[in-house]
Amino acid sequence: MVHDMIGRSDGLDAVIIAVGSELLTASRVDTNSLYITEILNDLGIRLAFKVVVGDDRAELRAHLAHALGRHPIVILSGGLGPTDDDITRDVVADYLGLALDESPVIVAAIEARFASRGWPMPAVNRRQARVPRGAVVLDNPNGTAPGLWLEPGGSMLALLPGPPRELKPMMQEQVAPRLAARAGGVTLSRRAITVAGRGESAVEEIVQPIYSAWLAQSPPIETTILASVGQVELHLSVRTVDAAAAAARLDAAVSALAAVLGDDLVSRTGRSLEEVVGDLLRARGWRIALAESCTGGLATSRLVDVPGSSAYVERAIVAYSNETKIELLGVPADLIAAHGAVSEPVAIAMADGVRQRSGVEIGVAITGVAGPDGGTEQKPVGTVCLAVTGPVTVVRTVRLPGGRAMVRSLAATSALDMVRRALASLPGPA
Ligand code: ATP
Repeated sequence: MVHDMIGRSDGLDAVIIAVGSELLTASRVDTNSLYITEILNDLGIRLAFKVVVGDDRAELRAHLAHALGRHPIVILSGGLGPTDDDITRDVVADYLGLALDESPVIVAAIEARFASRGWPMPAVNRRQARVPRGAVVLDNPNGTAPGLWLEPGGSMLALLPGPPRELKPMMQEQVAPRLAARAGGVTLSRRAITVAGRGESAVEEIVQPIYSAWLAQSPPIETTILASVGQVELHLSVRTVDAAAAAARLDAAVSALAAVLGDDLVSRTGRSLEEVVGDLLRARGWRIALAESCTGGLATSRLVDVPGSSAYVERAIVAYSNETKIELLGVPADLIAAHGAVSEPVAIAMADGVRQRSGVEIGVAITGVAGPDGGTEQKPVGTVCLAVTGPVTVVRTVRLPGGRAMVRSLAATSALDMVRRALASLPGPA
């Protein structure tokens, strides 16, 4: 979930219109707008809104009129192809009252592109050579449809082809420099921090009083909170011409947040929980082994998502059945009989078993009731026992919310966070 806690914009803002009926189906996703947004943000330009429009002239015209009437930058993607349903060029020219002239240079370039493959140019492709009078043509080295750049009434309007491999280099190399020239050297300075052990609203509650002070400053620090299962990211950004001053303010802001978040702060630089666990192990030259029951390898999978994790992940055993816990981890059968497989003594025995048998410094175990069946009054669905053993032994029982998938995912996150806290609590390398 993403929401802007402070949505103010200083300076330029933009609108993206993605054109194409296929983007209104369940089978195609508009990814171009995400790429364009990233580039706009790097230039300190905020996205006011974006919209997906089918191949419908009236709809496109209405959205174009609305966007150009209120925002100085409008970027259109798609609909520049050679067929009748490629309407962008026509609708823009018509709306702006510009004649479309066929460019012999573009016709020759399209012909040459087809000729290089040994094909004649189909007649329909001539449409792609039509240029609204006064527009700048943006070269498309990866396709036949060139892009177009217009500045109607002082606004900036870019038309780019839909295929991402064509749009991306054009956005980066031809549109971004034109926008930057008008943005007056404003750039976006950013920081991201990662938090674990608190939900989104709990994080918001604790940091909200700090944000409010930043609102009064000029330019303000904008904040966005992004929550995923068991983790929260806070993104801070400042738009200004003075990047050095922005960096200093953001550093101070991150320090203020770190002070109130305490141990719940995972990373000051947006590194994920699994990356931070890896950093902590690497700093000590330690290795880790895991015994996973209800998570079936999820925590290990997260750890090995990080490139270079072979330096510290030694092994993992998916010990789902009691027999495996006994056979491969050496958990005493009578311990399971006495306490049940989901219990703190068994979690410790599993972590110790995998740690001792693999000869590593840190052992981790996860055993729980993921549901939907198997819960009891004492151990309802969502009950998970987590253990970390080694130079420090920590064991915890948590009651996790949600269905089976959520319980398993939260259990993996909780275990990784326990490892992080255990390692961070030890004296020595941080
Ligand atoms: P072409 O010359 O290829 O016809 P075009 O500008 O007309 O270019 P479209 O026909 O609208 O582009 O789209 C071509 C393909 O590009 C689509 O099938 C789709 O796969 C991809 N595409 C279009 N728009 C987007 C988008 N917003 N995000 C991601 N992919 C897109």
